[in-house]
Amino acid sequence: MTDKTDTMTTASGAPVSDNQNSLTAGPRGPVLMQDFHLIEKLAHFNRERIPERVVHAKGAGAYGTLKVTQDVTPWTKAAFLSQVGKESEVFLRFSTVGGEKGSADAERDPRGFALKIYTEEGNYDIVGNNTPVFFLRDPLKFPDFIHTQKRNPATNCKDANMVWDFWSQSPEAMHQVTILFSDRGTPRSYRHMNGYGSHAFSWINAADERFWVKYHFKTKQGIQNFTAEEAQKIAGIDPDHATRDLYASIEEGDFPAWRVCVQIMPEADAETYGINLFDLTKVWPHSDYPLIEIGELVLNRNPENYYAEVEQAAFTPANVVPGIGFSPDKMLQGRLFAYADAHRYRLGVNHTALPVNCPHAAKVQNYQRDGAMRFDGNGGSGPNYQPNTVGGPVDNAAHAEPPLKIVGDADRYSHRDGNDDYTQAGNLYRLMPADQQNRLIANIVGHIKSASAEIQARMVPHFVAADKDYGGRIAEGLGISAPDVGK
Ligand code: NDP
Repeated sequence: MTDKTDTMTTASGAPVSDNQNSLTAGPRGPVLMQDFHLIEKLAHFNRERIPERVVHAKGAGAYGTLKVTQDVTPWTKAAFLSQVGKESEVFLRFSTVGGEKGSADAERDPRGFALKIYTEEGNYDIVGNNTPVFFLRDPLKFPDFIHTQKRNPATNCKDANMVWDFWSQSPEAMHQVTILFSDRGTPRSYRHMNGYGSHAFSWINAADERFWVKYHFKTKQGIQNFTAEEAQKIAGIDPDHATRDLYASIEEGDFPAWRVCVQIMPEADAETYGINLFDLTKVWPHSDYPLIEIGELVLNRNPENYYAEVEQAAFTPANVVPGIGFSPDKMLQGRLFAYADAHRYRLGVNHTALPVNCPHAAKVQNYQRDGAMRFDGNGGSGPNYQPNTVGGPVDNAAHAEPPLKIVGDADRYSHRDGNDDYTQAGNLYRLMPADQQNRLIANIVGHIKSASAEIQARMVPHFVAADKDYGGRIAEGLGISAPDVGK
């Protein structure tokens, strides 16, 4: 912060003599072109906005720490997880998904849970949600799906017909639809919800053995949700309620925390387990792969400047560190491209050098140079090619992953063939207590009733297939008959 007596300057540092009155020809006269301070100010103002994120546009974030509480070295050699008690700095951004930057925090929507861990081996991003699964299992359908969650091309309004037309032809969405319309679709705040890495990732230990892993961040504040009525009310009263809640709780020293848990599976299990463990519409049942608590995540520092640190925060699941890798999950593979591509579009090719995005505990050493808004030293006088004989950084095979065996003929395989889209959705319905089931049914009926009769009739059999009672009650709520297809 500058001192109150400091002289204001132009962007080039020259003192400003008057920031109240434009330079004019006479007291009533037109402004003069030579008032470069006025021109610079208006021109900069016009350029204050960058494209908002096409998804996850409305968000809030904070810094904190991730502390290791359990020895995980049998499964990963990642340096930041190498010792019990070790702490790493993190930045976590929460968000809604479908709404624009000014939309209400309380809207029914999944919540983004994007974590950047500043490790000594580079930044590791876990770009998750508050749900363990997703609506899709093939990234080719992502733009179509998101279009249905946005605005009708003609009316520019949200449109229940688009939403349910798509879902009624996308049974793989059933599991996530059930979560979305449950109480957890409207979390009370960003502090009162879990986070999930959602995909399977790989962990690799010092002996080069690969394990598949899923991340679960369990809120220590307890799960708390709004009912649909409460969410609608708070959306009107305070559209920024979750943003405000996160900032205020950290300012007051009431630091939100999550238990960091993993499910771990030896590499070979993926071939023999009954369901496709790389299918993002499925969870790994806890009975087969129990949660192992490995750490604690605490948020304890608010950003100083929202635009610089939250709006410009850029996460990508492609940011991994030695000891951690990807999986064959099709959706993950699509995201490995899409996230960094979005940042190059929104923020520019050098977004990785912005303070919130650059490594905090590691050094960038490579031969990437130039590009728009190159504001660091650009590699100085060092070499900009490799191999070289003048002492630039070299690649190091010690960090190579063990080979991953992949077989299969290149083809466009139906991602629906042989997939059970209903059992886990039904399991979730069946584990809900009666009052949660009642609200789930009411929330779905309340939304789908705005869709056409034809779309309603096409959608109901999916709910019935998940659970006869579930589908039957939705049919009853809509006043239509349920087909006899469910359990
Ligand atoms: P478990 O009984 O071991 O686990 C049930 C899980 O459901 C708990 O993690 C619980 O989370 C979570 N849950 C409870 N209510 C809701 C809700 N309305 N929306 C989302 N999650 C909720 O069972 P299984 O592992 O066999 O899974 C059964 C079903 O539970 C799955 O089909 C899936 O829908 C759901 N689930 C499973 C998860 C997994 O990784 N296995 C993770 C999250 C959900 P909490 O403990 O935080 O209350």
